[in-house]
Amino acid sequence: MSKLSIVVPCYNEELAIPIFYDETKKCLKQLVGKIVDQAEFIFVDDGSSDDTLSVLQKLSVQDECVHYISFSRNFGKEAALYAGLNKACGNYVAVLDVDLQDPPSLIQQMLEAVMNEGFDCAATRRVSRKGEPPIRSFFARKFYKIMGALSNVEVVDGARDFRVMTKKYRDAVLTLCERSRFSKGLFPWVGFKTKWFEYENIERCAGSTKWSFWKLFLYSIDGITAFSTKPLSLASILGILEFVVASLMIMFLIVRKLIFGDPVAGWASTVCIVLFTTGLNLLTIGILGQYVAKIYVEVKQRPIFIVKEEK
Ligand code: UDP
Ligand code: MG
Repeated sequence: MSKLSIVVPCYNEELAIPIFYDETKKCLKQLVGKIVDQAEFIFVDDGSSDDTLSVLQKLSVQDECVHYISFSRNFGKEAALYAGLNKACGNYVAVLDVDLQDPPSLIQQMLEAVMNEGFDCAATRRVSRKGEPPIRSFFARKFYKIMGALSNVEVVDGARDFRVMTKKYRDAVLTLCERSRFSKGLFPWVGFKTKWFEYENIERCAGSTKWSFWKLFLYSIDGITAFSTKPLSLASILGILEFVVASLMIMFLIVRKLIFGDPVAGWASTVCIVLFTTGLNLLTIGILGQYVAKIYVEVKQRPIFIVKEEK
């Protein structure tokens, strides 16, 4: 008997959940009994402060296919995804956002790719960023370029977390139990055969985005440090370059002093050099610090999430 589990992270989404549920239920009518025998929803309430939990409780009473996990506080979308995948017991697992930016109507095609075409995962990417603030799009594009240059996993520009996967793929993702999670890298890291689906950006159906520019910036640093140690090599290269330039300058000054007897003039240039070198030092210590912080978080082995209630 085949079963599809639909994992949906929710943070302060009391308005979006009913719309999402109705829309997805409609799409499931075309699937259940035809392509799969059963489907279940696994909503993850990521410590919402609005009525998300009571909306989910009501839904789970109305519909026995609706299950939920509620966190003791906000642990972030990555933790919610991990918890949802953990609870999902279907042979196929779909992961999608609750704001309908990931169209549930695509699930059927994605599921068919995984069931009949020999793929282990069907993934999605948006090909436009219509409706998004231009500054956010600009930095997002830069991030994908930097990530592509620095890391060994291929993080696809515009890739969404919206995926349909086999149980084997889901099990592989769950074996990666690191604390600072970056799904856009974890999914490609596990490998397997992935089919890509593309669509235009869709605006949120209700509520507002939970990602501020600052939160996204920190998330992107997390992503880079989780999947590449090249920034550390960059720090070493900068150090070597600085050493070479400083040595050449010292030799030049010594030769100039010996030949012309010139005193070294100008405190302004000295101050500039001191500021430049201390800046470089701080930058490289900062890069090192990012990795030390990652080790610190990992060695504490704290749980990725804490459940308050589940059904
Ligand atoms: N989300 C979550 N925890 C968070 C932030 C977001 O579970 O701390 C969920 C949110 O409810 C939504 C999905 O993650 O289902 C994507 O969030 P959002 O739509 O705010 O991100 P955007 O689409 O703007 O990147
Ligand atoms: Mg969204």
